[in-house]
Amino acid sequence: MTTALELRGLAAGYDSVPAVHQLDLTVGDGEIVALLGPNGAGKTTTLHTIAGLLPRLGGDIGLFGAPLTGRRPDRIARLGLALVPEQRGVFHGLTVEQNLRLHQHSRGGRHLASALERFPALGPVLKRRAGLLSGGEQQMLALAGALASSPRLLMIDEMSHGLAPVVVERLLPALRTAAADTGMAVLLVEQHVHTALDIADRAYVLNRGRLVLHGTAAELRRDPGRIEAAYLDAR
Ligand code: ATP
Repeated sequence: MTTALELRGLAAGYDSVPAVHQLDLTVGDGEIVALLGPNGAGKTTTLHTIAGLLPRLGGDIGLFGAPLTGRRPDRIARLGLALVPEQRGVFHGLTVEQNLRLHQHSRGGRHLASALERFPALGPVLKRRAGLLSGGEQQMLALAGALASSPRLLMIDEMSHGLAPVVVERLLPALRTAAADTGMAVLLVEQHVHTALDIADRAYVLNRGRLVLHGTAAELRRDPGRIEAAYLDAR
């Protein structure tokens, strides 16, 4: 199996102040990996550094088997990386259809019809301005948009942010199916540990910028005490 993403000793942060230290993390092709941890642990910083939105302060990033050298976000995206940011990256003033078409062009991409097949709830609201959608519909649109560029690695920041649990429960199977159908890898940042462990193959827990626990989702589900301890870990 090749590796979609490989972080070796990654240091990342702001104005040369590291917020993430010595992070080793891998995501195999077709694998769903959760990145967990309390507020301020460094999860978003990690995703933004991989995407080239923040400078790397140290260590190495390998993407699809090759070292990532420059950090132009558009070039990195063209390699096959898509990021759904916490604010969902949806253009509120454009319609749902216009949002989807924007993404379609970025990498050859699949057809609008396939987005609607995966997220049929978007069909009736195609002509509606995205800013008028519910939180759940916006998240579906964000996911559909990201999938339209046929990424090899999809990174999602807080998919469940601000959504009712019942809405999250509808989105997760769609994400899992999309990953299984396309073979893409997923790196999922989540506040909701159980949600994440339900869908992920493996998980990493960060605390104060350091990796404090990692394992398969199955072993972490069996032992919730280890996750709790990792959240409290104040090393
Ligand atoms: P959350 O779940 O609360 O979003 P997180 O795990 O994603 O948390 P990050 O947003 O990566 O955490 O933040 C990691 C650390 O970097 C925190 O101490 C945070 O205060 C700091 N930080 C985040 N953004 C900036 C910024 N723009 N400038 C300076 N420090 C920042």
